[in-house]
Amino acid sequence: MLSYQHIYHAGNMADVHKHGLLAWMLAYLTRKDKPLSYIETHAGRASYDLDAAEARKTGEAARGIQRAQSWFAPDHPFTRVLKQVRAEDGPQTYPGSPMIAARLLRPADTIHLAELHPREHGALTYAMSPYPVTCHQRDGFDMAHSLLPPMPRRGLLLIDPSYEIKDDYDEIPRHIAKFTRAWNVGIVALWYPVLTSALHVPMLKTLSKTYPDALRAEVRFPPARPGHGMIGSGLFVINPPFGLDAEAKRLKDRIDTLN
Ligand code: SAM
Repeated sequence: MLSYQHIYHAGNMADVHKHGLLAWMLAYLTRKDKPLSYIETHAGRASYDLDAAEARKTGEAARGIQRAQSWFAPDHPFTRVLKQVRAEDGPQTYPGSPMIAARLLRPADTIHLAELHPREHGALTYAMSPYPVTCHQRDGFDMAHSLLPPMPRRGLLLIDPSYEIKDDYDEIPRHIAKFTRAWNVGIVALWYPVLTSALHVPMLKTLSKTYPDALRAEVRFPPARPGHGMIGSGLFVINPPFGLDAEAKRLKDRIDTLN
Protein backbone atom coordinates (compact mmCIF):
# COMPACT_ATOMS: atom_id res chain seq x y z
CA MET A 1 0.00 0.00 0.00
CA LEU A 2 1.42 3.37 -1.04
CA SER A 3 1.42 6.00 1.68
CA TYR A 4 3.73 8.69 0.28
CA GLN A 5 1.98 11.99 -0.50
CA HIS A 6 4.02 14.68 -2.17
CA ILE A 7 1.86 17.49 -0.71
CA TYR A 8 3.92 17.18 2.53
CA HIS A 9 7.10 17.94 0.60
CA ALA A 10 5.98 20.07 -2.37
CA GLY A 11 8.22 23.05 -3.01
CA ASN A 12 11.03 21.82 -0.76
CA MET A 13 14.66 22.32 -1.75
CA ALA A 14 14.75 18.96 -3.54
CA ASP A 15 11.76 20.08 -5.66
CA VAL A 16 13.47 23.39 -6.40
CA HIS A 17 16.55 21.51 -7.59
CA LYS A 18 14.62 18.95 -9.68
CA HIS A 19 12.04 21.37 -11.10
CA GLY A 20 14.55 24.14 -11.87
CA LEU A 21 16.64 21.71 -13.96
CA LEU A 22 13.58 20.04 -15.53
CA ALA A 23 12.14 23.40 -16.64
CA TRP A 24 15.52 24.40 -18.08
CA MET A 25 15.79 21.12 -20.06
CA LEU A 26 12.26 21.33 -21.45
CA ALA A 27 12.73 24.95 -22.51
CA TYR A 28 16.02 23.97 -24.16
CA LEU A 29 14.33 21.14 -26.09
CA THR A 30 11.57 23.44 -27.37
CA ARG A 31 14.13 25.74 -29.00
CA LYS A 32 13.94 23.34 -31.97
CA ASP A 33 10.71 23.26 -33.96
CA LYS A 34 10.56 19.44 -33.97
CA PRO A 35 7.95 17.86 -31.68
CA LEU A 36 9.00 15.83 -28.66
CA SER A 37 7.77 13.29 -26.13
CA TYR A 38 7.66 13.83 -22.38
CA ILE A 39 7.12 10.72 -20.28
CA GLU A 40 6.94 10.69 -16.49
CA THR A 41 6.82 7.49 -14.43
CA HIS A 42 5.81 8.97 -11.02
CA ALA A 43 3.71 12.05 -11.68
CA GLY A 44 2.10 13.03 -8.37
CA ARG A 45 -0.86 15.43 -8.48
CA ALA A 46 0.70 18.23 -10.61
CA SER A 47 -0.64 21.15 -8.57
CA TYR A 48 -0.04 21.75 -4.86
CA ASP A 49 -1.57 24.24 -2.44
CA LEU A 50 1.22 25.30 -0.10
CA ASP A 51 -1.46 26.62 2.27
CA ALA A 52 -2.87 23.11 2.75
CA ALA A 53 -2.57 21.67 6.25
CA GLU A 54 -0.20 18.91 5.05
CA ALA A 55 2.22 21.39 3.46
CA ARG A 56 2.08 23.74 6.46
CA LYS A 57 2.68 20.84 8.82
CA THR A 58 6.19 20.20 7.50
CA GLY A 59 6.95 23.80 6.48
CA GLU A 60 9.31 22.44 3.82
CA ALA A 61 8.29 24.95 1.13
CA ALA A 62 9.18 27.84 3.44
CA ARG A 63 12.76 26.56 3.42
CA GLY A 64 12.54 25.68 -0.28
CA ILE A 65 10.76 27.63 -2.99
CA GLN A 66 9.79 30.56 -0.74
CA ARG A 67 13.47 31.16 -0.16
CA ALA A 68 14.75 30.17 -3.61
CA GLN A 69 12.41 31.83 -6.09
CA SER A 70 14.66 34.89 -6.46
CA TRP A 71 17.52 32.60 -7.52
CA PHE A 72 15.83 32.16 -10.90
CA ALA A 73 15.83 35.04 -13.40
CA PRO A 74 12.41 36.47 -14.45
CA ASP A 75 12.74 34.84 -17.88
CA HIS A 76 13.84 31.44 -16.49
CA PRO A 77 11.25 28.83 -17.54
CA PHE A 78 10.73 27.75 -13.90
CA THR A 79 9.92 31.37 -12.93
CA ARG A 80 7.56 31.68 -15.90
CA VAL A 81 5.58 28.60 -14.84
CA LEU A 82 5.53 29.66 -11.17
CA LYS A 83 4.18 33.07 -12.15
CA GLN A 84 1.50 31.60 -14.44
CA VAL A 85 0.12 29.11 -11.90
CA ARG A 86 0.15 31.67 -9.09
CA ALA A 87 -1.64 34.23 -11.24
CA GLU A 88 -4.31 31.70 -12.25
CA ASP A 89 -4.73 29.52 -9.15
CA GLY A 90 -3.52 31.69 -6.26
CA PRO A 91 -0.21 32.85 -4.80
CA GLN A 92 0.27 29.66 -2.73
CA THR A 93 0.07 27.32 -5.73
CA TYR A 94 3.13 25.23 -6.55
CA PRO A 95 3.48 23.37 -9.88
CA GLY A 96 4.53 19.73 -9.89
CA SER A 97 6.60 18.32 -12.72
CA PRO A 98 3.60 17.37 -14.95
CA MET A 99 2.35 20.96 -14.73
CA ILE A 100 5.80 22.31 -15.61
CA ALA A 101 5.84 20.06 -18.68
CA ALA A 102 2.25 20.85 -19.71
CA ARG A 103 2.96 24.59 -19.48
CA LEU A 104 6.30 24.59 -21.29
CA LEU A 105 5.55 22.12 -24.09
CA ARG A 106 3.64 22.82 -27.31
CA PRO A 107 0.47 21.36 -28.85
CA ALA A 108 2.47 19.05 -31.17
CA ASP A 109 4.37 17.54 -28.24
CA THR A 110 3.18 14.34 -26.54
CA ILE A 111 2.89 13.89 -22.76
CA HIS A 112 2.36 10.56 -20.93
CA LEU A 113 2.09 10.53 -17.13
CA ALA A 114 1.81 7.57 -14.75
CA GLU A 115 0.49 7.79 -11.19
CA LEU A 116 -0.44 4.64 -9.31
CA HIS A 117 -2.18 6.02 -6.20
CA PRO A 118 -5.94 6.36 -6.89
CA ARG A 119 -6.37 9.68 -5.03
CA GLU A 120 -3.23 11.24 -6.52
CA HIS A 121 -4.23 9.96 -9.96
CA GLY A 122 -7.68 11.56 -9.55
CA ALA A 123 -6.11 14.89 -8.60
CA LEU A 124 -3.62 14.60 -11.47
CA THR A 125 -6.37 13.94 -14.00
CA TYR A 126 -8.29 16.96 -12.71
CA ALA A 127 -5.25 19.29 -12.77
CA MET A 128 -4.28 18.12 -16.25
CA SER A 129 -7.80 18.28 -17.75
CA PRO A 130 -7.14 21.53 -19.66
CA TYR A 131 -4.07 20.04 -21.37
CA PRO A 132 -3.65 17.43 -24.12
CA VAL A 133 -1.90 14.84 -21.95
CA THR A 134 -2.52 11.15 -21.23
CA CYS A 135 -2.71 10.14 -17.55
CA HIS A 136 -2.23 6.44 -16.82
CA GLN A 137 -3.18 4.83 -13.52
CA ARG A 138 -0.56 2.11 -13.60
CA ASP A 139 2.99 1.33 -12.53
CA GLY A 140 5.23 3.99 -14.05
CA PHE A 141 8.05 1.61 -14.98
CA ASP A 142 5.59 -0.66 -16.82
CA MET A 143 4.16 2.35 -18.63
CA ALA A 144 7.60 3.53 -19.75
CA HIS A 145 8.59 0.02 -20.94
CA SER A 146 5.42 -0.10 -23.03
CA LEU A 147 5.97 3.36 -24.57
CA LEU A 148 9.69 3.30 -25.42
CA PRO A 149 10.86 4.16 -28.00
CA PRO A 150 8.24 6.90 -28.12
CA MET A 151 6.82 8.82 -31.02
CA PRO A 152 8.02 11.54 -31.47
CA ARG A 153 11.47 10.10 -30.87
CA ARG A 154 13.09 13.21 -29.36
CA GLY A 155 12.28 13.77 -25.75
CA LEU A 156 12.70 13.30 -22.05
CA LEU A 157 11.79 10.60 -19.55
CA LEU A 158 11.59 11.71 -15.91
CA ILE A 159 11.79 9.01 -13.22
CA ASP A 160 10.91 10.43 -9.81
CA PRO A 161 10.00 7.57 -7.45
CA SER A 162 9.10 8.06 -3.81
CA TYR A 163 11.54 5.24 -2.88
CA GLU A 164 8.97 3.78 -0.46
CA ILE A 165 9.94 0.35 -1.69
CA LYS A 166 13.59 -0.14 -0.78
CA ASP A 167 13.99 -2.58 -3.70
CA ASP A 168 13.62 0.49 -5.97
CA TYR A 169 17.31 1.23 -5.43
CA ASP A 170 18.23 -2.19 -6.85
CA GLU A 171 15.58 -2.29 -9.55
CA ILE A 172 16.09 1.17 -11.06
CA PRO A 173 19.43 0.50 -12.84
CA ARG A 174 17.83 -2.59 -14.44
CA HIS A 175 14.81 -0.58 -15.62
CA ILE A 176 17.03 2.19 -16.96
CA ALA A 177 19.24 -0.29 -18.83
CA LYS A 178 16.13 -1.55 -20.65
CA PHE A 179 14.89 2.00 -21.29
CA THR A 180 18.15 3.10 -22.89
CA ARG A 181 18.42 -0.10 -24.94
CA ALA A 182 14.99 0.68 -26.39
CA TRP A 183 15.62 4.43 -26.70
CA ASN A 184 19.26 5.42 -26.94
CA VAL A 185 18.61 9.00 -28.09
CA GLY A 186 16.28 10.04 -25.26
CA ILE A 187 17.15 12.14 -22.25
CA VAL A 188 16.58 10.01 -19.17
CA ALA A 189 16.54 11.92 -15.86
CA LEU A 190 16.39 10.08 -12.53
CA TRP A 191 15.79 11.98 -9.30
CA TYR A 192 17.18 10.46 -6.08
CA PRO A 193 17.55 11.60 -2.49
CA VAL A 194 20.98 12.06 -0.92
CA LEU A 195 20.63 10.14 2.35
CA THR A 196 22.60 9.99 5.58
CA SER A 197 22.05 6.20 5.39
CA ALA A 198 23.87 6.15 2.00
CA LEU A 199 21.14 3.84 0.66
CA HIS A 200 21.33 5.64 -2.70
CA VAL A 201 25.10 5.13 -3.13
CA PRO A 202 25.25 1.60 -4.68
CA MET A 203 22.55 2.59 -7.22
CA LEU A 204 24.59 5.64 -8.25
CA LYS A 205 27.78 3.59 -8.51
CA THR A 206 26.09 1.16 -10.89
CA LEU A 207 24.57 3.95 -12.97
CA SER A 208 27.80 5.96 -13.16
CA LYS A 209 29.68 2.86 -14.34
CA THR A 210 27.10 2.08 -17.03
CA TYR A 211 26.71 5.71 -18.17
CA PRO A 212 30.10 7.42 -17.73
CA ASP A 213 28.97 10.42 -19.84
CA ALA A 214 25.82 11.09 -17.81
CA LEU A 215 25.53 14.25 -15.71
CA ARG A 216 25.28 13.66 -11.98
CA ALA A 217 23.86 16.92 -10.64
CA GLU A 218 23.97 16.59 -6.86
CA VAL A 219 23.45 19.20 -4.16
CA ARG A 220 23.46 19.12 -0.37
CA PHE A 221 21.34 21.24 1.93
CA PRO A 222 20.43 21.29 5.62
CA PRO A 223 17.83 18.59 6.51
CA ALA A 224 14.16 19.65 6.66
CA ARG A 225 14.13 18.76 10.37
CA PRO A 226 16.93 17.92 12.79
CA GLY A 227 17.78 14.27 12.32
CA HIS A 228 15.91 13.97 8.99
CA GLY A 229 17.68 11.46 6.75
CA MET A 230 17.56 13.43 3.48
CA ILE A 231 20.46 15.85 3.21
CA GLY A 232 20.46 16.57 -0.49
CA SER A 233 19.03 16.00 -3.93
CA GLY A 234 20.40 14.40 -7.07
CA LEU A 235 19.43 14.32 -10.71
CA PHE A 236 21.22 11.71 -12.83
CA VAL A 237 20.79 12.69 -16.48
CA ILE A 238 21.66 10.37 -19.37
CA ASN A 239 22.17 12.22 -22.69
CA PRO A 240 22.13 15.61 -20.91
CA PRO A 241 21.35 18.55 -23.20
CA PHE A 242 24.18 20.95 -24.00
CA GLY A 243 24.57 23.54 -21.23
CA LEU A 244 22.79 21.58 -18.49
CA ASP A 245 26.09 21.16 -16.61
CA ALA A 246 26.51 24.95 -16.41
CA GLU A 247 22.89 25.43 -15.27
CA ALA A 248 23.31 22.70 -12.64
CA LYS A 249 26.50 24.36 -11.38
CA ARG A 250 24.76 27.75 -11.18
CA LEU A 251 21.94 26.28 -9.09
CA LYS A 252 24.36 24.28 -6.93
CA ASP A 253 26.31 27.45 -6.13
CA ARG A 254 23.08 29.06 -4.85
CA ILE A 255 22.01 26.00 -2.84
CA ASP A 256 25.53 25.73 -1.37
CA THR A 257 25.04 29.12 0.30
CA LEU A 258 22.54 27.39 2.67
CA ASN A 259 25.18 25.02 4.07
N1 SAM B 1 7.21 13.91 -9.94
C1 SAM B 1 6.35 14.66 -9.03
C2 SAM B 1 6.77 16.10 -9.03
O1 SAM B 1 7.98 16.37 -9.09
O2 SAM B 1 5.91 16.98 -8.98
C3 SAM B 1 6.39 14.08 -7.64
C4 SAM B 1 6.17 12.61 -7.57
S1 SAM B 1 6.22 11.91 -5.97
C5 SAM B 1 7.90 12.05 -5.53
C6 SAM B 1 6.08 10.20 -6.35
C7 SAM B 1 4.69 9.76 -6.78
O3 SAM B 1 4.79 8.43 -7.30
C8 SAM B 1 3.66 9.68 -5.66
O4 SAM B 1 2.55 10.48 -6.01
C9 SAM B 1 3.25 8.18 -5.61
O5 SAM B 1 1.87 7.97 -5.35
C10 SAM B 1 3.60 7.72 -7.00
N2 SAM B 1 3.96 6.29 -7.15
C11 SAM B 1 4.54 5.47 -6.24
N3 SAM B 1 4.81 4.28 -6.80
C12 SAM B 1 4.43 4.36 -8.11
C13 SAM B 1 4.51 3.48 -9.22
N4 SAM B 1 5.03 2.25 -9.10
N5 SAM B 1 4.07 3.91 -10.41
C14 SAM B 1 3.53 5.14 -10.55
N6 SAM B 1 3.42 6.02 -9.54
C15 SAM B 1 3.87 5.64 -8.32
